[in-house]
Order: sequence, then C-alpha cells, then structure tokens
Amino acid sequence: MSSPVIETEEHRALRASVAALARRYGREYFAAVVAEGRHTDDLWTEAAKLGYLGVNLPAEYGGGGGGIVELSLVLEELGAAGCPLLMLVVSPAICGTVIARFGTEAQKRAWLPGLADGSRKMAFGITEPDAGSNSHRITTTARKDGGDWVLNGRKVFISGVDIADATLIVGRTEDARTGRLKPCLFIVERDTPGFGRHPIAMELAAPEKQFELTLDDVRLPADALVGGGTSHASSSGGEDAGLLQLFAGLNPERVMTAAFALGMGRYALDRAVAYARTRQVWKEPIGAHQAVAHPLAQAHIELELARLMTQKAAHLYDAGDDLAAGEAANMAKYAAAEAAVHAVDQAVHTLGGNGLTKEYGLASLITAARVARIAPVSREMILNFVSHQTLGLPKSY
Ligand SMILES: Cc1cc2nc3c(=O)[nH]c(=O)nc-3n(C[C@H](O)[C@H](O)[C@H](O)COP(=O)(O)OP(=O)(O)OC[C@H]3O[C@@H](n4cnc5c(N)ncnc54)[C@H](O)[C@@H]3O)c2cc1C
Repeated sequence: MSSPVIETEEHRALRASVAALARRYGREYFAAVVAEGRHTDDLWTEAAKLGYLGVNLPAEYGGGGGGIVELSLVLEELGAAGCPLLMLVVSPAICGTVIARFGTEAQKRAWLPGLADGSRKMAFGITEPDAGSNSHRITTTARKDGGDWVLNGRKVFISGVDIADATLIVGRTEDARTGRLKPCLFIVERDTPGFGRHPIAMELAAPEKQFELTLDDVRLPADALVGGGTSHASSSGGEDAGLLQLFAGLNPERVMTAAFALGMGRYALDRAVAYARTRQVWKEPIGAHQAVAHPLAQAHIELELARLMTQKAAHLYDAGDDLAAGEAANMAKYAAAEAAVHAVDQAVHTLGGNGLTKEYGLASLITAARVARIAPVSREMILNFVSHQTLGLPKSY
C-alpha cells in the first residue's frame, strides 16, 4: 500500500526503519497492551533508543535536530503497523516544541533531554468543560502570590496525565494594566499538591487514558511559567508571550493528529485489501467486484491526498512560516481525519461479519478514527477557520 511520496532518501530510510520496528510489535502487541490495561512502554523505550521520539528536538539538548516532518513520519508509520503512540502528539510535538522555542535555558535543560530520549513525558492541557472549542473562554487562572504562581481551574479530556511527568497547562494571567486575561503556559509536575486527576470512562480501545483535571490552589514556583516571569523574561518568553507560545504548539499538534489519522487509515485499508484479495464467496475473490474495489481505491486516494497536505504543513512549519503552516495544518488535520474515517468505515464493511469480530480487531477503529475528527480541533471549527481566514466569509459567532 505504499505509493511513492515526495520525500528525500533520508526520509524514506527513516520511514522504512520505523516501519520495521513497528511491524515487530504490530497490532497484536497493541491489542494485548490495551486488554491487559498496560502501557506501550516497551515500544516507547525502543523507539526512544533508536532516536525516533526526539527526532524533532534540537540536537544540543539530545534531540535528533530534525523537525515535525520527521516526527510526523514516525507517528504515521507506527500507526500504519497498528501501534500508534498517541503521546508523540503531545510530549515531543507540542510540549517539546514550545519549550525548545520559548523555554528558559533552565527549562530546556530540565525537560528537553528527557523528552528527547523518552525517559520523561509531558501531557498538554487546554480543553475546559465550559469552554470546549472556544478556547478564548478558558478560565483556569494564574495569580501571582509573592514569588509563586497559584493556579485554579478545571480541564477535561487531557490525555496521558497519569504517565506524564508533568502537564503543560494553558491558563491565563490578569494583565495588571488592562485587567484583560492573557494566555500563559505552566509546567505542572504530576504530584504537585492540589493537582487532581480523575480518569474519564471512554469508549476507546487505547492504552492512553483521558482525564478530568482539577487545579485547586496549585502553588508553582516562578520558573514553572514557560519563558520565565516578566522580570527575567527573554523577548520571546514570559507572560506576554503566551499566545505566541500556544500557537507554536498547536500547529505541530494538528500535523501530528493528521499523521495519527493517516497511520490508522493506512492500517485499516491494508487489512481490508488483504482480505478482499483472498476472500471468495462466488467465482472470484470479493476484491474483483468493483463495488468492493472502488471504495478501497477511493480511500487510498483520499489518504494519499491528505498525506500530501500533511507533508506541506510540516514543511511550512519546519521552514518557520507559522502563518502559512497554520492554514495548511488545519486543512491537513481535516483531510486526514476525513480520509481515516472513510477508510476505516470501508475496511470494516469489506470484511463483512468479520469486520465486527474481536479476532480481526477493526471495529474498535470506528471509534478511534472519530477522535481525529473531534480533537484537537473539530471538523466544524476547521471549516469555520477556512471560511473566515481563507475565504474571508463573515462570522456567525
Ligand atoms: C480522545 C481524546 C483525547 C483528547 N486529548 C486532549 C488533550 O490531551 N488535551 C486537551 O487539551 N484536550 C484534549 N481533548 C479534547 C478535544 O480537544 C476537545 O474534545 C475538542 O476540542 C472539542 O471540544 P468539546 O469536546 O468541548 O466539544 P464542543 O466544543 O462542545 O463541540 C461540540 C460540537 O459542536 C460543534 N461546534 C462547537 N462550536 C461550533 C461553531 N462555532 N460552529 C460549528 N460547530 C461548532 C463542534 O464541532 C462539535 O461537533 C481530547 C479529546 C478526545 C476525544
């Protein structure tokens, strides 16, 4: 199922070696981990040792010195073999990027080597119960108290908080001059007093869990603020830089979600094609019937198109064009999520009754594929973005 892609020899080689690793683990490993309530630690550690998890992080802090192009390719190949690592979206992609671009020297030293070698993980928390898609409405607030920060608020659907050493929490501080609330990012270590987590029961067969978080007077040292406090902030750090930091993390998040969806779509399609080649109920294998073959061909085309957009977005981001990357990353996330949902749906259908059996394990992907349509930004909010930002249409909200 691998069509030629617009990639360098180096990227193709990276794809091939990640795919080889992922095939050694495969869907059986992933399914066993989920069934036993474990985590994908073995795969995570081995992928880290091979340098795949920190491939986007700066070499001077132990990373591979590459970019989101390389990291997204790693995630896609893991997913295509049936064993995606969701934490790649948040730990090295969002949190690693934000800290590498905007962290103080001390924050970079404290976090990047661990994120790069996989020994430490970070989760990312922006979504709130009363804000949802409208992140302008988040109310988690940081108040200055002497040299400390005190955080109060609630978050929902935050992935992997139990296995993350810290969570990058998006909060707001009050502007002393205008009284306006401005976004800012805090590194909250897992066992900080007042930082509570409650698992949300999800209909998802995945090793990573989602949590509701409560922040009750969570007291943090001054240096928990990404970029440092205003007194010793660099020009790109501190309380005034929150919005910039946030956007720097959100584009990699969208590209990585696209890669996650592409991997899943490819995995499902591969299973369906293999089945359609051999399953015979009349004279020819079912794949000879165009009603079976064409939707699979269509799914393949949609995945290829979405991958092209994902590559464009990743290249723009790595080239430093945040504005163009923003538009492309939104479109890539949209296209990849839609392509994955269609591919999974068609794959399940191609297997007939077997599409719904535990043995073939495809039906759970129906729920899993929907995640990419909802998170980190829903299909409708991307259509809103393109309507307003790209097409210049008026806004209804
Ligand atoms: C498995 C999973 C993992 C997640 N992991 C994380 C994580 O690690 N960190 C994190 O911060 N968040 C995470 N999320 C949260 C995710 O980003 C949100 O669910 C998502 O942003 C949508 O917010 P919401 O669920 O509140 O939906 P809502 O905002 O309530 O939206 C509900 C529906 O209304 C539609 N809608 C809302 N407003 C408009 C509008 N103006 N125009 C048209 N349609 C609209 C939406 O498209 C959606 O279909 C995760 C979610 C899931 C499911």
